[in-house]
Amino acid sequence: MNRSRPARVLAGVLAALVAGAALGAADAGPAYDLVLVGGRVIDPETGLDAVRTVAVKDGTIARITTERLAGRRVIDATGLVVAPGFIDLHQHGQTPADGALKAQDGVTTGLEMEIGQPDVAAFLAAKAGHSLIHYGTTASHPAARAAAFGTPLAADELVAPAGPSTDTPASDEQLAKVDARLRHELDAGALGIGMGIQYTPGALRSEVIRTFRLAAEQGVPVFTHVRSFGHREPGSSVEAVEEVIGAAAVTGAALQIVHVNSSCVADAPECLAMIGGARARGLDVTTEAYPYVAGMTDLRSALFNPGWQEKLGVGYDAVVLPATGEKLTRARFEELRGSKEQVPVLLFVNRPETVDAVIRDPLVSIASDGEASHPRNAGSFCRILGHYVRETGLLTLPDAIRKMSLMPAQRLEKSTPAARRKGRVQEGADADLVAFDPKTVSDRSTYAAPATPSTGMKYVLVAGTVLVDGGRLVPNVYPGKAIRR
Ligand SMILES: [Zn+2]
Repeated sequence: MNRSRPARVLAGVLAALVAGAALGAADAGPAYDLVLVGGRVIDPETGLDAVRTVAVKDGTIARITTERLAGRRVIDATGLVVAPGFIDLHQHGQTPADGALKAQDGVTTGLEMEIGQPDVAAFLAAKAGHSLIHYGTTASHPAARAAAFGTPLAADELVAPAGPSTDTPASDEQLAKVDARLRHELDAGALGIGMGIQYTPGALRSEVIRTFRLAAEQGVPVFTHVRSFGHREPGSSVEAVEEVIGAAAVTGAALQIVHVNSSCVADAPECLAMIGGARARGLDVTTEAYPYVAGMTDLRSALFNPGWQEKLGVGYDAVVLPATGEKLTRARFEELRGSKEQVPVLLFVNRPETVDAVIRDPLVSIASDGEASHPRNAGSFCRILGHYVRETGLLTLPDAIRKMSLMPAQRLEKSTPAARRKGRVQEGADADLVAFDPKTVSDRSTYAAPATPSTGMKYVLVAGTVLVDGGRLVPNVYPGKAIRR
C-alpha cells in the first residue's frame, strides 16, 4: 500500500472536476467522454464490489458514483463486471496480432519482462503509435551477454541457441560489457532487468549476484526464469529458487520469479513456501504463473542441454511440435536441435493438480508467458475467469481480478510510478477497463488452435479508448502507450 495514494487520487479527482467544470462553462454538452452504467464494479484495492457508474474523461477515471451521469457515449454495462484492465507482466508476442488476442482476453497492458527485449530504444520506437495495448520491457541480460561474447542476438531471437555465449563463464571484460549494456538499456526506459538463467547456464552464481546488485543500485526489480527445474540434486527447482532468493537477500534487489508453475513443476508447493518465507523475512520476492500444463521454448536453447530428461523425469515424447502435434523421438530431437531456425516446441511437464494449486496460491499473480503457437497467448486471462472462477470455483471473482490487475501493478509501482494509476478502478486511475459477462467469459484457444480469441469481453478500454466494443475488436485504433521506468 502506498501512503501517497489517497492524496494522488484526490488530486486526480480535483483535476477531473476542474476539467469538467471548465468544459461545462464552455459547452453545455456532457462532461464525460464515456460513461459505463449499471455494471458490477470490482476494485481489488479498496474492496469495492457494487453496482456503480464509472465516468471516463481524457483517458482517466474521473468519477465513480451511484448516480447516473451524462456522457458523450453511455455504455449499458448491466449484467457485466467492470474491472481494471488486466496487466500481463510476461508477454513475449508483441505484434499487432498478439495485441488483438490480448485485448480480447482483457489485457490492456502487455509487458515483456521475462528476459526482455534486446534493444529497448528500438522496441519502444517501433511500438509507438502502433500498439493496441500498453507496452514496455525489461533490459535483457541474455541479450547483453550474447553481445558481450561477440554474437549478438538476431532481432527475432529472445535467447541464443546453446553455444559459447550461453554455456561459458564470462571474463571480467565481458562482465563489464554486460553491465554497461544493461545500464544503457535501463537509461532507455527498461522497467527492470530480465534474466533467463536457465538459458545462460554459463553465468556463474557471482554473475547472477552482480546483475542483481546492478538492479538494486538502479532501483529496479529483476524478473527471472531460474537456473533449473526438476527434483534431482544438484540442479533442482528448489536449488534454483534458493539461488535467486539468496541473490535478492544479499543485494537488496526486488525479485519476480516468473512462471513458478513450469520452473518448479511438482516442487511448486515447496518453491511457494520458500517465496512466502522470504517475504515473511522482509524480502521483496514475488511470483506469477500461467494456467496451462505445457511450457514452450526453443528446442535449440540451453534449456535442452544434456540432462533435461533426467531432471524432469520425462522422455522425448514430452516434447511436441505445436503446428502438427508431432511427439518427438530421440532421432527427431537431434535432427531439430541442429536447426538454423528457431524451433518452438511445447513441453508437457506439469499435472493439472499442480497447476491448479499454483493458480490458487495467494502469492501467485497471473501472467501468460504469451507467444504464438501456445494457447496461453490468447486465453490465459479468460481461462482464469471461465475455468477457475465460474466452472470449478477454485478462485473467487475478486481474487481472480486482483491476481490479474492489482498484483502486477504493485510489482511495478515502486520503480515505475505510472503503475500506481493502473490495476485499479478508482477516481484518478487510468481508464484501462474491462467489462465482461461473467456467465459466458471463456478462453477458446487450444493447443491445436492457439490463436483463437477469448469470448465474453464485451468492452475493453485502453487509456479511455474503446478497443473492444460490444465484443468486437475495433479496427485501426492504437491507444497503447509506452510504460517506461
Ligand atoms: Zn521462461
